[in-house]
Amino acid sequence: VIELKQINKSYGNHHVLKDVDLKVSKGEVISIIGPSGAGKSTLLRCINLLEVPTSGEILLEGKRVPYSVNRGGQLTLLSKYRTSHFRSKVGMVFQHFHLWNHKTVLENIIAGPVTVKKKNRAEAVEKARYLLEIVGLSEKAHSMPIELSGGQQQRVAIARALAMEPSAILFDEPTSALDPEMVNEVLQIMTNLAKEGMTMIIVTHEMRFARQVSDRIVFMENGEITAQGTPDVLFEGNGSERFNQFLSSLQ
Ligand code: ATP
Ligand code: MG
Repeated sequence: VIELKQINKSYGNHHVLKDVDLKVSKGEVISIIGPSGAGKSTLLRCINLLEVPTSGEILLEGKRVPYSVNRGGQLTLLSKYRTSHFRSKVGMVFQHFHLWNHKTVLENIIAGPVTVKKKNRAEAVEKARYLLEIVGLSEKAHSMPIELSGGQQQRVAIARALAMEPSAILFDEPTSALDPEMVNEVLQIMTNLAKEGMTMIIVTHEMRFARQVSDRIVFMENGEITAQGTPDVLFEGNGSERFNQFLSSLQ
């Protein structure tokens, strides 16, 4: 459902992503791990069209994201409408939740379906209530985000992503801003989603979780994918030397 071909991204002369190829099949769960500054967030932001690659091609559900080339030879996004159409195919969950703080939990979840997908409100509310049940927050529908714990806010963010019925969800270090006792409640929801066949790309430092839930681990350093494979192969010491060093640096 997601295919990246030769993606490059530079900020000025800082070359952040270098010829990244990645193909994600339906139902696949991929964890991206690697040192700080490797380009992991930038990669997710390119997939979600929050950033425009400098060159390369992105296919979502087999359709090319229609970049155009401007006079300076840079890729640019087409109209806002086309952008939101493509962006709604992939959900994104951020480290710092990014909920709308002036909206209730329920309003946060129905906003996208109502405004972007033009769903009728009653239908959106019904779906939101169902999703709140799934993330265990049925009683919090009318709370404001600020009244919730970090773990609860992140679960709302996951419900909000699911409400758009995306064909994949991207997670950028979803638990690294959480107090330790709240990490598991979020990982548990993600594990359930994975089991139900949701396509997911997860940037995480939670190695045990990554190993348990992932079909494939992708190791990034310096803007490149330098090792990838099933968790068993990589974590049993059959990755690159750098990967093994990275793992031991975490312990
Ligand atoms: P971390 O594990 O710390 O989150 P990361 O792998 O997610 O790191 P990125 O955030 O993708 O790394 O950043 C990759 C590189 O790109 C870094 O060197 C960063 O300074 C640079 N970078 C990211 N965003 C921008 C930007 N908007 N402008 C300029 N440089 C940027
Ligand atoms: Mg990052």
